[in-house]
Amino acid sequence: QYLSGNEIRQTFLDFFAQRGHKILPSASLVPEDPTVLLTIAGMLPFKPIFLGQRTAEVPRATTSQKCIRTNDIENVGRTVRHHTFFEMLGNFSFGDYFKEQAIAWAWELSTETFGLPPERLIVSVFEEDDEAFAIWRDKIGIPPHRIKRMGKDDNFWVSGPTGPCGPCSEMYYDFHPELGDDNIDLEDGSRFIEYYNLVFMQYNRDVEGNLTPLQSKNIDTGMGLERMAQILQKVPNNYETDLIFPIIKTAAEIAGIDYTQADEKTKISLKVIGDHVRAVVHMIADEIRASNIGRGYVLRRLIRRVVRHGRLIGIEGEFITKVAESAIALSEAAYPNVRQREAQIKAELQREENQFLKTLDRGEKLLAEIIQKALVGQASRLSSSGQDAHPTTEISGRDAFTLYDTYGFPFELTQEIAAEQGLTVDTASYEAAMEEQQTRSKEAHETIDLTVQGSLDKLAEHIHATEFLGYTQPLSQSIVE
Ligand code: ATP
Ligand code: MG
Ligand code: MG
Ligand code: MG
Repeated sequence: QYLSGNEIRQTFLDFFAQRGHKILPSASLVPEDPTVLLTIAGMLPFKPIFLGQRTAEVPRATTSQKCIRTNDIENVGRTVRHHTFFEMLGNFSFGDYFKEQAIAWAWELSTETFGLPPERLIVSVFEEDDEAFAIWRDKIGIPPHRIKRMGKDDNFWVSGPTGPCGPCSEMYYDFHPELGDDNIDLEDGSRFIEYYNLVFMQYNRDVEGNLTPLQSKNIDTGMGLERMAQILQKVPNNYETDLIFPIIKTAAEIAGIDYTQADEKTKISLKVIGDHVRAVVHMIADEIRASNIGRGYVLRRLIRRVVRHGRLIGIEGEFITKVAESAIALSEAAYPNVRQREAQIKAELQREENQFLKTLDRGEKLLAEIIQKALVGQASRLSSSGQDAHPTTEISGRDAFTLYDTYGFPFELTQEIAAEQGLTVDTASYEAAMEEQQTRSKEAHETIDLTVQGSLDKLAEHIHATEFLGYTQPLSQSIVE
């Protein structure tokens, strides 16, 4: 019998507790660090310690940290391994043990405790980190050709332009060892999955970029819980682990779909729903509320993507609270605050879903027309200007703004739907329209309507002058009701 996600989490924490680490609870998704919108890694709550701004209460700690990475949103459902919401398991040393011990425990945990076959593991090191290379080769016994030296983009961690930094070493699992060891490409997601990253914080970087060794060296690590679950549960992707699949099943049932029989596009929508519902449940439990700025906007955008993907797979009407129930049930053992806040979570989700459904219908029709016209315009420009012409495949920023302002379509949603048709959206003119509106709403307190209309017209002129439209009539005039 395979380990469940909850068992994997506990096994990791117990392993490090037995080795002198204090188990600390996950911090909130809302970080104390004001420079970051959401908690993106297990180390974030410890950043002040690593930066020397706070002293550690214990020399060693271990956590399972809730994380949200919006930079991975486009990967959700498309790669086997990326989520917006995931849990990062970590072991941390604050000036205590260092590289050799961190590597030795990572190896013992992987191969003995979790039982991964050593011949299936591949590691990367920073290209200049001969010390880590030697530890993997001589102390652990990994054949040198399975230790990959990588550049600083992937394997050097910095917290900012100055401050503590250092090389890292990543562990990968090989799903297809039968393909052999020639041509190993760790970027190949169909063969390898990165599951554990060890950061060796050993330098301080000054303003000139000079690295000096730190007196007190630190260890920061991160293991993706969902990724380890995929490996151990022998399922094709993170989404089909017991941590997420029940949510997907609930959504599929509501849509009357059999996941195993579904086509690729439907599966992606179901995975997006599975991922995002987990994310929004935890965000609301951590007291984030939907709005048009900051984290509130991330929350709103995620909820709206859930609703839209629900419609793509044929769900009519409200469904998000039902799916949320299954996400709440899945996470309550590890995160009791989710069950405690169940009422608020459902109320917030229902309110947002309702509001969005009301405008979605009209907005979707409008966007379909806009896209249609853009495609027709593109076709006619192509035929009138010959084969060599580079087609302008843009939706105007003004239309995107109308969709946002009147129909509640987040800009990224318009971009995403447009991209499905091979179209891009003019970001600059969208931003101009947005800025204009902000000025307008400020002015609205002081001026009368006529003046406001005047500045609107000026904006329209400005946009028309700087943008090739391909039509005689401005789009938004002809389409907006
Ligand atoms: P990848 O290269 O696969 O995008 P990463 O190098 O960006 O991962 P790290 O920043 O090293 O990831 O984070 C530490 C660990 O957290 C990773 O090894 C992985 O197991 C997990 N992880 C990172 N991003 C995600 C994500 N979007 N979804 C699920 N797990 C993730
Ligand atoms: Mg990444
Ligand atoms: Mg990586
Ligand atoms: Mg990494």
